[in-house]
Order: sequence, then C-alpha cells, then structure tokens
Amino acid sequence: MADEAPTGAMQPSATNEQHDGEPHDRGAFNDGLNKLRAGVLGANDGIVSVAAVVVGVAGATAELAPIITAGVAAVVGGAISMALGEYVSVASARDSQTALIAKEKRELAEMPEQELAELAGIYQAKGLSAETAQRVAEELTAHDVLGAHLEAELHIDENEVLKPWQAAWASFLSFLLGAVLPMLAITLPPAELRIPIAFVATLLALGITGALGAYLGKSPWLKPTVRVVLGGAVALAVTFAIGAMLGTAIA
Ligand SMILES: [Zn+2]
Repeated sequence: MADEAPTGAMQPSATNEQHDGEPHDRGAFNDGLNKLRAGVLGANDGIVSVAAVVVGVAGATAELAPIITAGVAAVVGGAISMALGEYVSVASARDSQTALIAKEKRELAEMPEQELAELAGIYQAKGLSAETAQRVAEELTAHDVLGAHLEAELHIDENEVLKPWQAAWASFLSFLLGAVLPMLAITLPPAELRIPIAFVATLLALGITGALGAYLGKSPWLKPTVRVVLGGAVALAVTFAIGAMLGTAIA
C-alpha cells in the first residue's frame, strides 16, 4: 500500500502470482466463451452486410466486375469500421478501468482504516455476521488488499487488462471471415444462379451463426436464430429490389 506508484496499475504485482486458483480459471473460461461469441456476432455482420451489397449490385447488373468491386469495398470498409468501433469502445472501457484502479489505490494509501471498514461492510451486507465480515476483510487485506477491493467494490480484476488493439483485430478478422461466404456465393456460380445461391447460402450461414451465438450466450436458440435469418432475408430482398430498380432505370 505504501509503495504506491502512478504506473502501478499497469504492472502485474508480485502478490497476484500467488492466487491463480479456481475462480481465475473459470474467469478465463467465460472470457474465452465471450470472445468466441463476439467473433460469431462479427462474422454475422460480415455475412449480412456484404451479402446485401453484392446481391444489390447483382440485381442491377449481370457483369461480374462491378459485383466484385462493390463486394471488396464492402468487405474492407465494413471490417475497418467494425474494428474502429470495437477499438473505441474497448479503449474507453480500459481508460475508465485504469482510472478506477488508480482511485482505489489512492484511497487505500490515504485511508486504509475506512477502506477496511468499507470492505467489512460489503461482506456484512452480503449476509455475514459483523465478526466474520471483519475477519474476512482483515484476511483479504493481508492477502491482496487491492485485489480484494477491486473485486468487492468494483467487480473488476486488475489482471484482466482490456486490450483495445486485440479486440479491434478480432473484430476485423471475424467480419472478414463472415464476408468471405457471400463473396464466394456471388462470384463462383454461373450468372443466372448467382442471386438464388447467394440468397440460400447467406440465410443458411445466418442460421448457423444465429444458433451458435445463442448457444454460446447460453440462451434459447430458436427465436434469435429466426430473427437473424428473417432480418437477413429482409436485407437481401430490399437491396436486391433497389438494385434491380436502379439497374433498369439507369440502363
Ligand atoms: Zn475500497
């Protein structure tokens, strides 16, 4: 507590290495699941938005070059915009987390007595008796005072540093991965089958990502899957209709 340094929040402290037991492992497991789920949602976005663009252009023209050009632009623009959005949101979450950790450190250094009472109060409010809560607070304080306060008061873990670049990169890649499917479905088949194949492949893929996302989020899968597939069908139908109208109007 006494050796508080402004940069301390960034450095792993020596005490943290002593307690990587079960809660940590479960945290890592949930963390992995959440990342996987975010990846599925990113792929979902890549599928819908790129499919809508290529089907729209294919509604306007039978030529492959403009379809590919628009598709590639949609893939690159979409992946960058997803990554940027993710970067901004994770970076601001990280900044507020860093600020909270620094504030807690300062409070622990400046008023350890009140902080101990506060910690005991939290455990008492959770249902422990005053004596037990006091003992828990004292033992936690002796073990890892900052970790105990961050967990009890703020529900954050000093070791789980949010990584904006990593999140942005994951978003970028998952969007790209999803976008590959409509690109292939629109470019590989012969011209007359392009649109029906892109339609079917897109809706099938959305069904899979919708169900997988719900499964990973531990929620019932049917309703969200139906929503995602219907939403995708509407997006494709609308862009196709607009493409077809513009195609005949301009040509
Ligand atoms: Zn505190």
